[in-house]
Order: sequence, then C-alpha cells, then structure tokens
Amino acid sequence: MELDRPLPNPITPEARPFWDGLREGKLLLPRCQSCGHVFFYPRVLCPRCHARDITWTQASGTGTLHAFEIAYQVFNKAWRVKPPYVLAMVELAEGPRLMSNLVNVEPDPRIIKCEMPVRVVFCKLTDEITLPLFEPAR
Ligand SMILES: [Zn+2]
Repeated sequence: MELDRPLPNPITPEARPFWDGLREGKLLLPRCQSCGHVFFYPRVLCPRCHARDITWTQASGTGTLHAFEIAYQVFNKAWRVKPPYVLAMVELAEGPRLMSNLVNVEPDPRIIKCEMPVRVVFCKLTDEITLPLFEPAR
C-alpha cells in the first residue's frame, strides 16, 4: 500500500506510549500524577506544574470540533491525501486539543460546524503507525 502522507519520525521516548496505544486501538493521553492535569502533546514535564511523574490515561475518544479548515490544495508533494480534506483542531472530552483530520464527512462548510461532536477513528498506516483521525459522532 502506498502511503498518502509522511510518517512521524522519529518517535520520541516521551511520545512512545501514545503511538503504542494507537496501534492497539486506544487513544492514550499523558496525565500528571502530581496535579492531575491531562495534556497533549506528550512531554517529560507537566506543562502546568512542571512535575516529572507523568502517567497515561485512556481517553474516551470523544470530543468536539474546536476549529477546522477545508484544504483545497496540497502544498507539499509528500502529502497525497486527495483534496478537499478537512484539517481539524479537536478538543477532547478530557480537555486537551489535538490537530487531526475530520473524515467520513462531506468537506463542506455547510455540514461541518465548530462545536460539533466528534469521535476518534483509528487509521492504520503501517504496522508501527496508526493515526487518530476523527469523524462526526452520530
Ligand atoms: Zn502537573
């Protein structure tokens, strides 16, 4: 299968559990043991209290569409996802926001709305890499 986008590389040690979880169909988020803050992206320090005792918690996979953009052109030839496609900033139910794509929906601003409920879909690219994409929650 030909890949339609570049793979994340390298995967840093602090992000390893995130990618391992995705491979098993789980969306894991880093959580600070000291203050309970759930955050994204993965870091060695809690961005709120700077503690180093980070654990991982399984997210519900649900959230809302915080912001989006419909892309009609591809500006890098390594990106082979056919436009138009939807670039999405998703706000997870647990709080953190992450950048992804909204899929399984017509890329039409009359259909896609900010604050619409979304849920994760796992998109396996390789044996190593599965991406968390999102679709409208029905
Ligand atoms: Zn903390």
